[in-house]
Amino acid sequence: MVTFQAAMSDATPPPAQPSTATCARCEKTLTEGDRVLAADRAFCRSCYEVLKFELQQAVARMSQDINYPLATLGAVLGGAVGALAWWGFTVLTEIGFGLVAVVIGFLAGHGAVRFAGGKRSAGLQAIAVTAGALSFLVAAYLVNMTFINQALQQRGETWRIPFPPHSVDMFYRVLAVNFGLMKLVFLAIVVYEAWVIPRPPKLDLAA
Ligand SMILES: [Zn+2]
Repeated sequence: MVTFQAAMSDATPPPAQPSTATCARCEKTLTEGDRVLAADRAFCRSCYEVLKFELQQAVARMSQDINYPLATLGAVLGGAVGALAWWGFTVLTEIGFGLVAVVIGFLAGHGAVRFAGGKRSAGLQAIAVTAGALSFLVAAYLVNMTFINQALQQRGETWRIPFPPHSVDMFYRVLAVNFGLMKLVFLAIVVYEAWVIPRPPKLDLAA
């Protein structure tokens, strides 16, 4: 295109907008009614339609033929690694540094995408959000369990909070010990991360 314009500039004065004078795909000279601007380039209408179609096909393929069982495994593994990291960090430092919880959402989202072979879809988003949120709750349970058991030990008590919990009710009650606003914020961050990472790209095309 540069050489084409260089050749043209000998014969005619350069157009006001050199980059939009010809189609960036087929190099045909564009007229007012036959010019579509996309990003910093201009295309003739037919080339633009072809490119738009190809792009739509590529994006559609990205959400097709997804191995959901494998993606679920990836999200669960990612969430589990993140939960263990947060549990370990909190028990070692004795600080409930919830920002580490971001790691849970990040790993759940990337686990789903990676195990699905780089695909993205609303289904993957749902899987990642579910795995991320559950991992966060399990991590919060593990943290409380550890601190409660330490307190029990210091008091000379012989019973311990188990993992896994014996019932949903036990799970809930251990979580409820200190489930405040900050935990909700961290949970929201986990959900947001897990939602954004497997999100299919949005097609933002000029009409
Ligand atoms: Zn063209």
